[in-house]
Amino acid sequence: MFEGVNASDGIGIGVAQVAIAPDLSFEPVKIDDPEAEKARFVAARDKFVAATEAQIERMKANGLEKEAGIMTAHIEFGTDDGIKDMVFGSIDGGVCAEQAVTEAYDMYYNMFSAMEDELFRERAADVADVKVGLLADLLGKEVVDLSSLPENSIVVVEELTPSMTADIDKDNVAAIVTETGGRTSHAAIICRALEIPAVLSVAEATKNIKPGDLVVVDGAKGTVLVDPSDDELADYREKAKKLAEEKAALEAFRGVPTKTADGIEKILVANIGNPNDANAAVEHDAEGVGLFRSEFLFMDAQELPSEEEQFAAYQKVALRMKDQPVIIRTLDVGGDKEIPYMDLPKEENPFLGYRAIRYCLNNPEEYKVQLRALLRASAFGDVKIMVPLVTCIDEIRKVKALVEECKAELDARGVKYNPNIEIGTMVETPAASLIADVLADECDFFSIGTNDLIGYTMCADRGQDKVAYLYNPYQPAVLRSLQRIIGEANKAGIMVGMCGEAAADPLFIPVLIGFGLDEFSVSAPSILKARRIISQWTKEEADALVAKIMTFKTDAEVKAALQAAAK
Ligand code: PEP
Ligand code: MG
Repeated sequence: MFEGVNASDGIGIGVAQVAIAPDLSFEPVKIDDPEAEKARFVAARDKFVAATEAQIERMKANGLEKEAGIMTAHIEFGTDDGIKDMVFGSIDGGVCAEQAVTEAYDMYYNMFSAMEDELFRERAADVADVKVGLLADLLGKEVVDLSSLPENSIVVVEELTPSMTADIDKDNVAAIVTETGGRTSHAAIICRALEIPAVLSVAEATKNIKPGDLVVVDGAKGTVLVDPSDDELADYREKAKKLAEEKAALEAFRGVPTKTADGIEKILVANIGNPNDANAAVEHDAEGVGLFRSEFLFMDAQELPSEEEQFAAYQKVALRMKDQPVIIRTLDVGGDKEIPYMDLPKEENPFLGYRAIRYCLNNPEEYKVQLRALLRASAFGDVKIMVPLVTCIDEIRKVKALVEECKAELDARGVKYNPNIEIGTMVETPAASLIADVLADECDFFSIGTNDLIGYTMCADRGQDKVAYLYNPYQPAVLRSLQRIIGEANKAGIMVGMCGEAAADPLFIPVLIGFGLDEFSVSAPSILKARRIISQWTKEEADALVAKIMTFKTDAEVKAALQAAAK
């Protein structure tokens, strides 16, 4: 059994297709016709760009618009003038095109892979991919082709490059195993978008797994089993069958309203990270968007996105969701969310420092660009504004004052917007929880961000393994906090939702019904499952469960009781 990064859920059983990259080694030769050598490079580059453009079109045709965006980085690195000048310079110095390409792209590769920021490090993979494409053409070799594979293939590759996935034969790939890549790598993003089970960063996978081996990949656990015994195989087949049956059974919950067993209506919406994700929200039958993490627009850019760019993105989501609610969170930067070009100062403790609404209120002109874009989008759908990391009422008051300024500016420009746009707060700090009554008086809605609330309440970093035992919603401290937030919102008569991961936790959903949560915002693939669980509980049953767990003193007792009660 090999272990790696659990990058995309699901069980894949099939035959290994081990794709080893072609041998691109060469003997550097001294050249005497630099112009001819430059022409070879230009021809290889033009061919590479044309092939990449064709791939981008195919990806778009397959509904992979966001992933197609990743491929445009290849075109940028393929056509970059700085790189071309380096290559030409080397050729003028008597070096062959293969060597000149290797030197130039290796320089960029080394630069990106040495950067601290993971997003920049991921760019190194793009640079390497372009180098392979150019070298393969110069040397007349074929790069790995995953476009026609036999049924039930388990693709085993050193690295799953974006250009390989562009043509991947989705119907025949049972799972993917790679030797590199983390959960946020392009490979992981693409596997999840295609719903192909995947385990990444399995050391020496292409050596240890042989072509033709029978392989079982468990994408949720991050395990790869080669040559399973008959019993193991039967076990996994059973598990895969169960997963498929569960998925099929959930279809009964498509197109029906979200209600508890005694008919109380709930709102079930999706968390999205970019405008194209709205398609997944619609496909999975979400009733709107409960959290659009707008920082992805800022992370994917090289500089602050303009009002027009932001407006286009927000409008796209508003139009796609028709008249359903779309809650867009204003920029949440800092802490676990880095945006390199913003040059946030290095801090001893960034999670408690200069981030999210603190940064935005300190840069009001920048913030107003986003607020104007949001207001403009509100003319095209039910767009609401949500403020992250609130800790005191002043922050909400300042945001509201800025929104009023923006409205006046738009009036002066004669631009339409919804004058009654709702402004809500994320409740994700212990401070916001403690003043939930005060906030509820001046906000239109709450959305509880348990991802941060749990961390800040338990003083346990959400990404730190050593304190992971403290980080869960079953902690009595977290339960008390949630009960208070939801109770205060109910009292004030404002909508209260939850957009942290706990909203999709099957064990936790009845607790949230008992507390009185109105809205559940979960990842798109979790929508139908959440609707099913909500439908299984009456308020009375959920209340009884809450009454019971609130008497417990440890998270272990709470979790055990929830497991015992699960339907
Ligand atoms: C949260 O903190 O629960 C949340 C939804 O926001 P993020 O995970 O983006 O911090
Ligand atoms: Mg948060």
